[in-house]
Amino acid sequence: MKPTNRTFSAAETTIFEVASRLAVEHQAINLGQGFPDNNGPDDIRAKASEFLEDQPNQYPPMMGVPALRQAVADHDNFFYGLDVDWEQGVLVTAGATEALASCLFGLIEPGDEVIVIEPLYDSYLPIIRRAGGIVRMIRLQPPNWDLPQKELANAFTEKTKLIVLNSPMNPNGKVFSRNELSYIAKLLTKYDAYAVCDEVYEHLVFDSRQHIPLITLPGMSKRCLRIGSAGKTFSLTGWKIGYVVADPVLLQSVTRAHQFITFTVAPNLQRAVAYGLKKPEEYFKLLSEDLQGKRDFLCEHLNSIGFSILPCDGTYFITADMSHIGFDGNDVDFCRHITINAGVSAIPISAFYENSPPEKLIRFAFCKNLKLLEDAAGRLRRHFGK
Ligand code: PMP
Ligand code: GLN
Repeated sequence: MKPTNRTFSAAETTIFEVASRLAVEHQAINLGQGFPDNNGPDDIRAKASEFLEDQPNQYPPMMGVPALRQAVADHDNFFYGLDVDWEQGVLVTAGATEALASCLFGLIEPGDEVIVIEPLYDSYLPIIRRAGGIVRMIRLQPPNWDLPQKELANAFTEKTKLIVLNSPMNPNGKVFSRNELSYIAKLLTKYDAYAVCDEVYEHLVFDSRQHIPLITLPGMSKRCLRIGSAGKTFSLTGWKIGYVVADPVLLQSVTRAHQFITFTVAPNLQRAVAYGLKKPEEYFKLLSEDLQGKRDFLCEHLNSIGFSILPCDGTYFITADMSHIGFDGNDVDFCRHITINAGVSAIPISAFYENSPPEKLIRFAFCKNLKLLEDAAGRLRRHFGK
């Protein structure tokens, strides 16, 4: 028989699925895959039910229902001062995952170079490669994950088509500073390149830090595609509603890719997300305050058990160093071990690297209620005898 596609046949099942299956099998508390343990805001779910009954359920427009495209444009104007063309500059997708794929398939020509930053989200590399892109990787180093500017500058060449930038960043909770973003912007201008900006955690930033979209920097409006996700902003990860905001000219080929990948997504969910995006500013503030409290709670517990916790300015995740916990093995062994033996699951940070990863760093999701976080910490404490 002829082989199937090389990129996808060589790929393993994503770590998030593997870890969650193992957690279910062992009835472990799931601090692995990043999803909240609540059911999302009641009013947004009620709107989705209402719209399912009262509004059309046939194909919505390929770019998304007008209400949602307008709401995304208004949201980006309110939070970031962006002037978005809601008709031609907003595309609704099946989650950020499809947004990323449509952007990468829409922009990359075989042979184009694409810069990515490790640690990185696992969907980036296979899609870039399937699109024919040549990956140029740079790496951030723990514990501070600062952007290595010289290394980044060296990664750019005349063939660079784009950079994929994830801020706030999964898994390490880094939020890129204005200084770092300005440096990236300068290189994009110098090399006439684009940025696919994965900003799904845009509202999950802590300690009064600010998320700055790269697209807001001078000269960047025609070079950046800004990706958001209702999954994260409204704690509804299963809905898979994402969006891309970009200059209409740049968005056009992304839209052409989207029309042949999914074409559209469920209309009632789109309308309910439009309702959500119009919530008062207070909603977004409370979302991050609540998560910040959970971050602090879990950090304190894990610290007292013997983990060293790395800085975390945003996202659902903290990174814990398990070097001194008394476990002889790497992060993959460790996560498997605690899922099966302590009843708590987590994600090995090495899953976010292609080669020679750090081996003692573990990602724990804290987007759970405090009681569950306390139970998880209690299980780990008992297991490690602390
Ligand atoms: N990018 C990053 C950095 C993520 O962590 C995730 C997962 N939540 C996604 C993209 C995919 O988001 P979605 O569930 O909306 O497809
Ligand atoms: N983004 C989520 C995480 O990092 C997982 C999404 C998925 O399972 N595909 O945990």
